[in-house]
Amino acid sequence: MTRPPSERTRLIRSATRRPHEGRRPVNPPVERASTLLNPRTAAMTDPALGPVYGLEGLTVQHELRAAVAELEGAANAWITPSGLSAVTIPLLALTRPGDEILATGAAYGPTREFLEGFLAERGVKVRYHPPRIEPADLLDLIGPATRLLLIESPASLTFEMIDVAAVAAGARARGVLTVMDNTWGAGLLFRPLAHGVDVSVQALTKYAAGHSDLLMGAIAAADPELDARLGAAIALMGWHVAPDDAYLALRGLRTLPLRLAEHGASALKVARWLADRPETAQVLYPPLPGAPDHEMWARDYAGGCGLMGVVLNGGHARAARALLDSLQLFGLGFSWGGYESLATFETPQLGRRPVPADLPGPLIRLHIGLEDPDDLIADLEQALAVFRAAGGE
Ligand SMILES: *Cc1c(COP(=O)(O)O)cnc(C)c1O
Repeated sequence: MTRPPSERTRLIRSATRRPHEGRRPVNPPVERASTLLNPRTAAMTDPALGPVYGLEGLTVQHELRAAVAELEGAANAWITPSGLSAVTIPLLALTRPGDEILATGAAYGPTREFLEGFLAERGVKVRYHPPRIEPADLLDLIGPATRLLLIESPASLTFEMIDVAAVAAGARARGVLTVMDNTWGAGLLFRPLAHGVDVSVQALTKYAAGHSDLLMGAIAAADPELDARLGAAIALMGWHVAPDDAYLALRGLRTLPLRLAEHGASALKVARWLADRPETAQVLYPPLPGAPDHEMWARDYAGGCGLMGVVLNGGHARAARALLDSLQLFGLGFSWGGYESLATFETPQLGRRPVPADLPGPLIRLHIGLEDPDDLIADLEQALAVFRAAGGE
């Protein structure tokens, strides 16, 4: 080959690279196993024979880990039972009592609950910074106890971005680890490890799975010592991903670049349309020209995904709920990244943040699925009429 294969090719080629003597299916076997039988007693402790117990994962889990490692640009990757566990495992594994974690006040809600509850009870403190902050100001917050910086950019619900490369370089110079939740970037639109982040995590639940039918997370670290510590924590705590779920996630990864390109193109079309409507005050979607942090997105990202926030113009919670209830093509449900469009009302979640978000109206979140974007726009048009009739702008 005269050129290195592109991402699309790399995500597919592991299917044909697995060695085989005779004929075999394209895809890895789904081996459901706790116990693995050995031919002789001596074989039971022979590391050359591979895993000794199902907990370590078998062919399909290993093939998925290799594909995620390709995606993340790492030598290895770990898979975990949910996206949330992919965030909490490094926070738990890489801190000790007395340490402090610095995180954005707009971090994913369950992540904040873990920091404020479970970790705080075990002597690890969290301190929040404003979601939109200059790298120098963020690095100034690092104190003697700061051990780890948790990055989420774009942040949950309000999509604020930070300059990840500058923050990661500054943190490293101060001996502080960086962990980035890159679920919005899906491991593909943004490359945390290439931007100097120590540990990249994402919810495979979202775009890798792509069909709203499984929960899974992924963790990747460039440094072998960090990678080994994360692997040891996963093994010691006994975390495991079932082979059927690993099979589905691996299948999803093969088409991730194609689906994500469609989600991104449709979302941009919908975002442009929404931004021109009098019923909207702001569309929180960094790929949209003129949206907050658009320049940073254009510099650092290879594309956009399907997830955006929409701040409605005036109106009350009741009008926003009427809008959502009138939608016909958008399901009302949490999570995102599947083929279907979804909508949620987010103002109540904002109220639980450490730093209140200052928005001029109710906030809804849209996930733009793989339907025809013109159909989605038509649905939103009738829903905005319902919003107006219910007392919205
Ligand atoms: C959804 C999500 C998670 C958690 O993923 P689950 O698989 O649902 O546990 C973590 N971080 C972000 C930013 C998310 O959007």
